[in-house]
Amino acid sequence: MRVFTAAFWNETNAFAPFPLDVSAFEEAGLYGPGERPDGDSEGAAVCEEARIRARAGAFDLIEGTCTYAEPSGLVTRAAYEGLRDRILAELQAALPVDIVALGLHGAMAADGYPDCEGDILVRARAIAGPKARIGVLIDPHANLSAEMVSAADVIIAFKEYPHTDFRERAVEVMDLLEAAARGEIDPVMRSWDSGALAIFHTSRPPVRAFVERMQRLEREGAALSVSLVHGFPWGDADCSGTRSLVITDGDAAAADALARQLAVEAAALAPEGMAAPVTLDAAIDQALAAQDAPTVLAESPDNPGGGAAGDSTAVLAQLIARGVRSACLGPLWDPGAVDLAFRAGVGARLDMRIGGKAGRLSGQPVDGEAEVLALDPAAFQTFAGVPVPMGRAAAVRIEGVEVVLVSQRGQALGVDLFTRLGIDPAAKAIVVVKSSRHYEAEFGKISRRMITVDCAGALQINLANIPYRRVRRPRWPIDPGPPTPFPVNPNPVGSKPQNEASS
Ligand SMILES: [Zn+2]
Repeated sequence: MRVFTAAFWNETNAFAPFPLDVSAFEEAGLYGPGERPDGDSEGAAVCEEARIRARAGAFDLIEGTCTYAEPSGLVTRAAYEGLRDRILAELQAALPVDIVALGLHGAMAADGYPDCEGDILVRARAIAGPKARIGVLIDPHANLSAEMVSAADVIIAFKEYPHTDFRERAVEVMDLLEAAARGEIDPVMRSWDSGALAIFHTSRPPVRAFVERMQRLEREGAALSVSLVHGFPWGDADCSGTRSLVITDGDAAAADALARQLAVEAAALAPEGMAAPVTLDAAIDQALAAQDAPTVLAESPDNPGGGAAGDSTAVLAQLIARGVRSACLGPLWDPGAVDLAFRAGVGARLDMRIGGKAGRLSGQPVDGEAEVLALDPAAFQTFAGVPVPMGRAAAVRIEGVEVVLVSQRGQALGVDLFTRLGIDPAAKAIVVVKSSRHYEAEFGKISRRMITVDCAGALQINLANIPYRRVRRPRWPIDPGPPTPFPVNPNPVGSKPQNEASS
């Protein structure tokens, strides 16, 4: 048996101001065939699992390119077409193959290609032929398209958010692909759209019970695999939405019926599974009223981990406007301000203009007299014991608020993003972090009160306020009325790739 693997992994934020070129992939990881170091990651998990099996003698493995990039705005046409064509040429050279196993996030969009994964899979199917078994491990924050479902035999999404289960899901993808290639099973997939666009955290009720139900359905043999694809609400694709995905052994009607049932359940889950957003002023009120400091405010709408710039002044400006004095905030991306702080030196006081520069959603810059508190030419924060670089960093105090300015975009992960620059967040009333969820582990050690605030930003939480252009309507919660599920009709396999004729 001959198996081809590759990974091309990115989550595109349609509202983020930065185009993503090939250097962003090189920075995060761009490995040619066989170059990827051993080890797991969300994007490479299926490639890693295939490598482990090939070493054990299960099949002959031909590795293709494996690449990922930090989320940002649209991938440039040159970067997307270049990397896609490189992987497709590797697949062509590997023929004949029995299995194509790919790591694709599912929410990548490029200039001229609103559904990159659908485009890649349609082209991969044309190259590999109708008999090859094509499988994909996706992120649940994928925007699952009909093209993807039609062109692949097996698609499985992580069940957990945070994504702690990519290893188990990669094993399942390879198990199903191998069984299908041996002719033991004949996977068929069906998907239904719930009619909702939702943000689900699987570690909390009621979504936890939904995950357990999917696992029970698999254990009891109702399907070979069951996924809930949450969707990426900031991807703004035609296929953005929470969708069910069911794989059965040759029984399309059963797959369709179960996918429909799960979409109906997901539609009911969406309104109760999503926490109500807390407005910025209400969050500040709660923090100031609290007896036990500090309160951590997560500025999720400006989380660079989801593609935002990280230089929004929405929260900083409001803290200043309300005269809050005991507060710190970080990391705020502003390489220009960092440079001025380095020129001025520690202890200097100077007029500074902070943040608000990357785009419309970054708000207005904050102007004021700043005192330079500390400088670090090679700053980092620690996440799960691993140092994560922040570039050059400067701690400044502006209008009473202590801010960590950084030259390299990144979300808040570790408390030491503040402490290494001499700021003690535990002593503040309010600690503002630019992060959605990953900050919780470390900041949970200094505070049990963590509030996700809604404000302007590329990852605005109140989905009803997002200026969507492409999302299929009507859709809850953008439009009035409850979510209405509908089937994701499979397209004829081999349907046309996107953007074929454009220049
Ligand atoms: Zn995700």
